[in-house]
Amino acid sequence: MDDRQFRSAMGKFATGVTVIATELDGDIHGMTANAFMSVSLDPKLVVISIGERAKILTKIQESKLFTVNILAADQKELSMIFAGQIKEPREVAFDTLDGKPVLPGAIAQIACEVSTEHVEGDHTLFIGKVTGIQLRDAEPLVFYSGQYRSLEENASLV
Ligand code: FAD
Ligand code: NAD
Repeated sequence: MDDRQFRSAMGKFATGVTVIATELDGDIHGMTANAFMSVSLDPKLVVISIGERAKILTKIQESKLFTVNILAADQKELSMIFAGQIKEPREVAFDTLDGKPVLPGAIAQIACEVSTEHVEGDHTLFIGKVTGIQLRDAEPLVFYSGQYRSLEENASLV
C-alpha cells in the first residue's frame, strides 16, 4: 500500500477544519488540523494528532495547553495561512478564552490543558482536558478528498 492510497482513503472521511493554537513565552503559534475528535464526556476530553515535523509540537509539549478553533465556512483563508499554504506572513489577531489564545469568528473555541500525550508512529496524540468553550452560530468549513467544501444549503438526507 502506498502513501497516496492511504491518504486518498482517509480523505474520504469528511471533516471540519480546525486551527490548533498555543502560547509559549508570549508568542502565539497556530496550525491547521483536521485530526480532532471528542473522547470523553465525564471528564470532558478531546484528542488532537500532531505530526513529528510540525513546529507546534514542542510548543504544546512545553506550554501544556492548546485550543481547538473549529473554522466557519468563511475562514478558508485562515486555514490556508495556518497550513503554510499562503507563504507571505500575515498578521492574525487572537482573542483569549480561559487565558488561552483563540481565533475570533470560529464556530467553536475549545480551550484545553494537556492531560496526557502518546507518541504513535510519526504523530503525537495530545489528550486535552477541556477548560472552556465558546460557540458561534454559523456554517462550518468542510475538508473532503483534499479539498475545501461547504455544506450545501438546505441539503437533507431524509
Ligand atoms: P508552521 O509551518 O510554522 O506554521 C504554519 C503556518 O502558520 C505558517 O505559515 C506560519 O506563518 C503561520 N502561523 C503560525 N502562527 C501564526 C500566528 N500567530 N500568526 C500568523 N501566522 C501564524 N498536520 C498535523 O500534524 N495534524 C493534522 O491534523 C493536520 N491536519 C491538516 C488538515 C488540513 C485541512 C490541512 C490543509 C493541513 C493539515 N495538517 C495537519 C498539516 C499542517 O497544517 C501543516 O503541515 C503545517 O504547516 C504545519 O505547521 P507547523 O506547526 O510546522 O508550523
Ligand atoms: P491529503 O489527500 O494529503 O489528505 C487526505 C487525508 O489523509 C487527510 O484528511 C488525513 O486524514 C490524511 N493524511 C494526510 N497526510 C497525513 C499525514 N502526514 N499523516 C497522517 N494522515 C495524513 O490532503 P491534502 O490536501 O494534500 O493535504 C494538505 C497537506 O496537509 C498535506 O501535506 C498533508 O500531508 C497535510 N495533512 C496532514 C494531516 C496530518 O498530519 N494528520 C492531515 C491532513 C492533511
